[in-house]
Amino acid sequence: MPDLFIGGEWTAALDGRTRKIHCPADGTLVAEVDEAGPKDAAAAVAAAREAFDHGPWPRATPAERAALLLRVADLLVRDKDALARAESLDTGKRLVESEYDMDDIANCFRYFGNLVGAGGAERVVETGDAAIDSRVVHEPVGVCTLITPWNYPLLQTAWKVAPAIGAGNAFVLKPSELTPHTAIMLMRLLKEAGLPDGVANLVLGTGAEAGAPLTEDPRVDMVSFTGGLATGRRIMAAAAPTVKKIALELGGKNPNIVFADADFDTAIDYALMAVFLHSGQVCSAGARLLVEDSLHDRFVDEVVARASRIRMGGPFDPQARTGPLISAAHREKVEAYVAAGVAEGAVLRLGGARPDDPALADGFYYPPTVLDECTAGMSVVAQESFGPVLTVERFQDEQEAVALANATEYGLAGAVWTTDEGRARRVAAALRAGTVWINDFHPYVPQAEWGGMKQSGVGRELGPSGLHEYTEAKHVWRNT
Ligand code: NAD
Repeated sequence: MPDLFIGGEWTAALDGRTRKIHCPADGTLVAEVDEAGPKDAAAAVAAAREAFDHGPWPRATPAERAALLLRVADLLVRDKDALARAESLDTGKRLVESEYDMDDIANCFRYFGNLVGAGGAERVVETGDAAIDSRVVHEPVGVCTLITPWNYPLLQTAWKVAPAIGAGNAFVLKPSELTPHTAIMLMRLLKEAGLPDGVANLVLGTGAEAGAPLTEDPRVDMVSFTGGLATGRRIMAAAAPTVKKIALELGGKNPNIVFADADFDTAIDYALMAVFLHSGQVCSAGARLLVEDSLHDRFVDEVVARASRIRMGGPFDPQARTGPLISAAHREKVEAYVAAGVAEGAVLRLGGARPDDPALADGFYYPPTVLDECTAGMSVVAQESFGPVLTVERFQDEQEAVALANATEYGLAGAVWTTDEGRARRVAAALRAGTVWINDFHPYVPQAEWGGMKQSGVGRELGPSGLHEYTEAKHVWRNT
């Protein structure tokens, strides 16, 4: 069956191109999928435009839209095992992590389903003039381009698709060319749930060939993008000539601040999980460890000891605690960051070389790596390596900890570990980041907004704001 989904039909790429998808854990061929180009992208936009301008979905009631999102949530639960397996084959991620993601994805659809069902009310504006009826309504934006990355393929897609259709939009989705399978499966589920043809469209392909046209097309009203900072800048520029609405979820270089009074064992365990989860390929990874000077030596020694015991392996290895990187090119990028860090004066305490285990030779493995004695100016500290690389910086006091934490162009997330409640509150308030954890790392809930300050992005996903991103407020004034 062809893999592009346009106007409710499965179609092959117009110029017949395909791409082979290999599992990053061992190089096995997962499948060969259709690879779209600009003509396919244009056809998908035309289908979405038609569905938005003349189809039933934008005119459906909030109750109808809510019911569909809740049906999709049930279908995601039904197909959880197949979805998790497909996600792990595409990404190399451990199956348990993919299974966890699938639960979150169903919850995301359920959350937005309930939010849409409860909302939809008009806001009456008091003008003080009895002859005036003034109301504000929220309408869908129109045709949305949704572009997603490879690290959490279906999760990032769900954060966009659920609110986009919940608000009544039509969309064209372009997932990462490296990880297309769960997007294909989601299209099937949306059709099965009864979403009208043309509301959901899928094009697979590269950013240049399939993505860029979707960000430039004048028939597109909004672009919602999750991915790297450099791509985000390009997309913002591409959307500018036609002044599209944009929502950007970009990278992070997130500080994990540990004060000397922190609970030692818990802070160590979470510092490891914060950065090595999914081999560091997490936008909110705690890749910068900031440790109070008096605790530094004991803390870093223990981080290194425990990190050295983290076992690498493929998605279906039950003993594995971390998996491969996504591609050969990405591993080379991570290696270059580590080499630059060492050249700039960082002390390599762990990792830093590909594993010599023959069982891992066919995958893109790179071990947990710890660079100590880092400083804010180093490229490995300032930029996103997006690999299992922890950099360690020392600080003397609270003021210096906050200054170092904020010394980055990013502002996605951060954490503070201390048993001093006042200090926890002060540091949380001072961090310029969209999410701050106190004595924890990585949890999120669909009810709370997610997104970045500074160059980590524009707008928010999840929470009520995550729905409002996909709406336009309209003020209707009636003079009776
Ligand atoms: P990427 O920017 O290389 O690609 C992301 C998507 O954009 C892919 O689908 C790609 O094909 C597409 N693309 C590339 N060039 C394009 C162009 N010119 N026009 C339109 N589309 C284009 O990112 P990636 O390597 O896939 O993902 C990793 C990045 O994503 C990291 O920087 C990570 O921090 C970020 N990320 C952020 C969040 C968040 O919530 N803030 C979540 C996950 C990932």
